[in-house]
Amino acid sequence: MLAKAKILLIYTGGTIGMMKDFETGTLKTFNFSKLLQKVPELKQLDCDIETVSFKTPIDSSTINPEKWAEIATIIENTYDNFDGFVVLHGSDTMSYSASALSFMLENLSKPVIFTGSQLPIGDLRTDAKENLITAIQIATLREDSKPVVSEVCLYFEYKLYRGNRTTKINSENFNAFISPNYPTLIESGVNLRAFPELFLAKTRKRKLKIHKNLDTNVVIIKIFPGISENVLSAIFTIPQLKGIVLETYGAGNAPIDEWFLSLLKKAITSGLHIVNVTQCSIGTVTMGKYETSTALKEIGVISGKDITTEAAITKLMYLLGQNVPSAVFKTVFETSLRGELL
Ligand code: ASP
Repeated sequence: MLAKAKILLIYTGGTIGMMKDFETGTLKTFNFSKLLQKVPELKQLDCDIETVSFKTPIDSSTINPEKWAEIATIIENTYDNFDGFVVLHGSDTMSYSASALSFMLENLSKPVIFTGSQLPIGDLRTDAKENLITAIQIATLREDSKPVVSEVCLYFEYKLYRGNRTTKINSENFNAFISPNYPTLIESGVNLRAFPELFLAKTRKRKLKIHKNLDTNVVIIKIFPGISENVLSAIFTIPQLKGIVLETYGAGNAPIDEWFLSLLKKAITSGLHIVNVTQCSIGTVTMGKYETSTALKEIGVISGKDITTEAAITKLMYLLGQNVPSAVFKTVFETSLRGELL
């Protein structure tokens, strides 16, 4: 008989484990052991659960690459002892963290599922229990004694998404995330309905490689009508700046003013990597479709295709941290590494 699946629950913080401070009325993180007392149902799951917590649980607005490395280290040190990992994380930056971890964990052959909640687990109307319990259940799924899911995912409100395809769009509804350009991997209803044809190809034979070096000399710039040379050239000349995610209009379109294009061209020639992503929630960048993007293509702007901004900025940090040579940087960025783009 197959042994029970072993799941490691990694608690980083977030609303799921917060309590109201009665004096100020604000939500603050609290001790993880109390979190488990609040969900006795976990004992009914047909798996063994162990837990580990950040020393000081955080509101996810304070997450950063060092803390991503902390999550990666926990997984690295315990990888062989568990069948799956569930990361409890604040929803605010969960899509950034799931994207970052997807790049940092190469050749993943086990599930790493991020989840959290909009209401604390102690709240009567909480969404935390369903999210937590189903995320664990999905992490335990096995077929031929191998994990069914073997990528970094995000589970929220009855849906399992590829983590690096998600974005938080709602701070009010329980349904807080969407995966605008990639379908749901598993839907939770009366049964768990999986769509395995959408899963990442398995890389079981390759050994897990962890990359913790992320380069933060990057910036996101959202263009808008009226963006000025004065402002933009100041950003472009930030010392040590190595990469820019440029949020453009529609299918990747931008102003065609002389100053704008020559600023970009000069930056690219001097080694800066500029990635074109769209401000639209849904759809892809297609440079060359309109006159307003043809010049961008000609000067060597990288196409982010249908990537989210969250995945684009973390991929940029990851590739820069890997010292990917300039000559191939554009090609590598435009290639799907973890299913993050077309
Ligand atoms: N501010 C919280 C956080 O991201 C919100 C949440 O957990 O949903 O940590």
